[in-house]
Amino acid sequence: MSSSNKNVSIVNVCSGCFACYNVCPAGAIEIVLSREGFYVPKIDKSLCTNCGLCLKVCPVVNAPSSEDRFSEPKVYISWSLDEKTRLNSSSGGLYPELAKLILENGGIVFAVGWNKEWLPQHKEVSDYSQLSETLGSKYVQSYVGDTYRRIAELTEYGKKVLFVGTPCQVAGLRNFIKQRRVIEDSVFLVDLVCFGTPSPSVFKKYLTENFNNKKITAISFRDKVTGWSTSSFSIYDKTSRIYSVPLFKDSFLRGFLIKLYLTRICYSCPFSKLPRQGDITLGDFWGVPDKYKDEKGVSVVLVNSEKGEELFNQLREKQIIFAEQVSLETATKSNPRIVSGHMKMPNERDKLLMEIHSKSWKYISRKYINLSVLGDLLEEV
Ligand SMILES: Cc1cc2nc3c(=O)[nH]c(=O)nc-3n(C[C@H](O)[C@H](O)[C@H](O)COP(=O)(O)OP(=O)(O)OC[C@H]3O[C@@H](n4cnc5c(N)ncnc54)[C@H](O)[C@@H]3O)c2cc1C
Repeated sequence: MSSSNKNVSIVNVCSGCFACYNVCPAGAIEIVLSREGFYVPKIDKSLCTNCGLCLKVCPVVNAPSSEDRFSEPKVYISWSLDEKTRLNSSSGGLYPELAKLILENGGIVFAVGWNKEWLPQHKEVSDYSQLSETLGSKYVQSYVGDTYRRIAELTEYGKKVLFVGTPCQVAGLRNFIKQRRVIEDSVFLVDLVCFGTPSPSVFKKYLTENFNNKKITAISFRDKVTGWSTSSFSIYDKTSRIYSVPLFKDSFLRGFLIKLYLTRICYSCPFSKLPRQGDITLGDFWGVPDKYKDEKGVSVVLVNSEKGEELFNQLREKQIIFAEQVSLETATKSNPRIVSGHMKMPNERDKLLMEIHSKSWKYISRKYINLSVLGDLLEEV
């Protein structure tokens, strides 16, 4: 490697974790949207000192060490015993219970809310009143911003922190923590079982074209009006639910579920495997044994480290969650993404993402989404 390219510009499969941006001491990295509409670093060569720190923390180049992980995770069927909390979340409402525990003890939570354009963004939560917008899965790549730097700062003041994110984001943060010598015991990491993150540019196009004249006040990708296993995609204004359809019937969600516009690395994700990146992993318990089936939502919880166990046990001791230990196989049978990051990339993905800038959503969805579900792709619409 020559000294002139000792930076992340040489990494050609970026997960968009923001670790390089956060670690750069020269301020030489900004985050921009790639041509495909995903968050990627852009290096200002005039500011880069070739220190190499961005490459050191890049989890695609350097996988975080797994020395503190259990050899096999402890796996649970779980849900919040507070019905409202459970119903307001995507799965069993474990995230809000963990968040409340941290806040109760004076800690700070970093999780995903919205920016002004209704694109997902990591936010700092220090108070219960800020928690609601971070509830629920947003099926779009989130903008992490300077979250990791802020976490380092808060731990220096003796704060405990909970970070929730996709496996790649948690991997990036773990490398950042090591590099910046952040007190590891102060940071609790939760990674999600993750199918992949759709392009923010695609979601923006969908939203602008279909809801531009509406005053949106909330978006739920997993509204339980029709139950947990058959959840709906809903959009609200101040007074009512203005749009609500089962996931497969919405063009954006259907395109997500048939994997049409995920971040390139998601099709062979190096982080969706054991040992998991988080101290705790949260997901949907697809294929939950009949005895525990419940349309209010059921979570799969993987406890991956002693730190994770300490936190999860506090929820159990306080009797605010239901938790039943099961085998790893029971959890992975219908949810292979817990242990494998591989899936086929649809042939049409690259072409669709090339067209997203010049064509309407109506054109894109008719050409690629409705028809590719039928396994047939017309060249002209
Ligand atoms: C993009 C994505 C794909 C997923 N794919 C799967 C899957 O294939 N299988 C599966 O079992 N589970 C998947 N999940 C996880 C699942 O949907 C729930 O988020 C998880 O079970 C937690 O639910 P909960 O009821 O405990 O809490 P919830 O209240 O639903 O909490 C959701 C948590 O996810 C965080 N979050 C939301 N959107 C994002 C985002 N875009 N990026 C990073 N963090 C985010 C929120 O900040 C919050 O902490 C996915 C989640 C996301 C965001």
